Amino acid sequence: MTAKGITRVVIVGGGTAGWMAAAALSKFLGKTLDISLIESDDIGTVGVGEATVPPLIDFHRLLGINEPDFMAVTQATIKLGISFENWKEQGDKYIHAFGNTGKDHWAAGFWHCWLKGLRTGVSDNYGDYNVEHLAARAGKFAILPKSRDGYNYQVNYAYHFDAALYAKFLRKLAENNNVTRIEGKITGVVTGTDNGFIESVTLASGQIIAGELFIDCSGFRGLLIEQTLHTGYEDWSHWLPCDSAVAVQTTLVKSPVPYTRAIARDFGWQWRIPLQHREGTGLVYCSRYLSDEDAKKTLLRNVDGEPFFEPRVIKFRPGQRLKHWNKNCVALGLASGFIEPLESTSIHLIQQGILRLVRLFPSGGVRQSDIDTFNAQTKIETDNVRDFIILHYHATQRTDTPFWRYCRNMTVPDSLAKKLELFRQSGKIFRVPGEFFGENSWVQVLLGQGVVPQHYHQIVDIMSDDELAEFLSSVKLSAQRLVEQLPSHQDFLERYCKAK
Ligand code: FAD
Repeated sequence: MTAKGITRVVIVGGGTAGWMAAAALSKFLGKTLDISLIESDDIGTVGVGEATVPPLIDFHRLLGINEPDFMAVTQATIKLGISFENWKEQGDKYIHAFGNTGKDHWAAGFWHCWLKGLRTGVSDNYGDYNVEHLAARAGKFAILPKSRDGYNYQVNYAYHFDAALYAKFLRKLAENNNVTRIEGKITGVVTGTDNGFIESVTLASGQIIAGELFIDCSGFRGLLIEQTLHTGYEDWSHWLPCDSAVAVQTTLVKSPVPYTRAIARDFGWQWRIPLQHREGTGLVYCSRYLSDEDAKKTLLRNVDGEPFFEPRVIKFRPGQRLKHWNKNCVALGLASGFIEPLESTSIHLIQQGILRLVRLFPSGGVRQSDIDTFNAQTKIETDNVRDFIILHYHATQRTDTPFWRYCRNMTVPDSLAKKLELFRQSGKIFRVPGEFFGENSWVQVLLGQGVVPQHYHQIVDIMSDDELAEFLSSVKLSAQRLVEQLPSHQDFLERYCKAK
């Protein structure tokens, strides 16, 4: 370890991860740090990653970002959740919406009431009790003030945006905070002979950039964390068999819907992300069952607009680095690992990594206790996201292709197997602090995938059948009333943040 203080931070990579890190570190710690970011125009960025989750709004608030400006500049639209189509079985559809569903009792979540209502015949579709779900289906949205007519509910949302424009937007913020951008390709990395810490990187031009802390945002290659420090990788491809994606952008043919579509296909799934000016779409697939050429054809058969370019193939290996922070190098984004984009969690994990680094910032020098804490917290969060994604594949009733049969029959991590068993038996959800996905997410996806508990919590029996019916119908009615008052998503965009 080193007792030297940190004054020079070098960020390697100028994709979403690099510029998020640069914007945030310069905002929070910029007065005490000299921050440089190196990116290579020749190498470029991965160019995908356009759907997000609600905590990004808090990150933007911390950065002092003006929301209408950000949305206009990045051609952003609103995301209220994800529509999962053909996942449980062909032709089936459910939405994993943000926010809460119904009203929870302190001892048992709302879904226990709903489960009893199913037996007595008074429950409707689970999504009918969720404002974001109803608003997504109706194509409506508004940002509501905190308390409205005594009804304290805000519509929870995230964004879809253009990844390239987002990186440019963040670059401006970071450069305004004195981050130095260096364009060039890194061809060498120097490590110390005593402790193996990274001391400097060398560009093809011969320029040497030295630092005390290095943030590896170099994408899948993991230039520092793997190629230099040989940290090691935990491979999850036996649980997450998709290892390829083919992506394209098309013209928009109708007004953007306020949700992401995730449509299961024979050997993987297709995302559809509508922005203000175009749609981003791609097929995530398993190369054991589908060739790249056939993947391109499948994708192009399933687009509505005109593609702007030939579909681009991206290869990946699902998993994570054995350590996200190793010696004086912290890996963020694709350099730290990759769980496929089914629940749009990569940008969120970048955000969490940055905030965690700020909290544990090694003032006074890099110490093993900070590193261990960072890695332990990151592992809890990442494993939870991994389990949640595996659930979508595993809890399928599809047997129509070898890919879906594999997913249905594969063994799953113990942590997920236990969650599944608990829910099946009693409708309960077990969470530990630090996990990202909450009960409402797990319940929507479990029910959506057809996992129905054998029992509901006994506390629900305190209500008579009539009281339960009355309660369920009042929750549904108040959600419907709120959504009725919202403008259309398109009207909201026009008024709030129309791209110039
Ligand atoms: P990159 O964008 O690859 O950037 C790497 C940077 O490193 C570049 O600037 C490059 O120039 C630089 N670099 C590399 N080597 C060198 C070198 N030798 N010298 C100098 N510079 C170098 N995430 C979400 O949250 N939501 C989504 O909907 C989503 N969809 C995705 C779909 C797919 C198919 C994939 C593969 C990923 C998706 N992601 C999504 C993840 C998301 O794209 C990434 O987390 C995000 O773009 C961050 O990428 P990055 O910055 O880590 O890497």
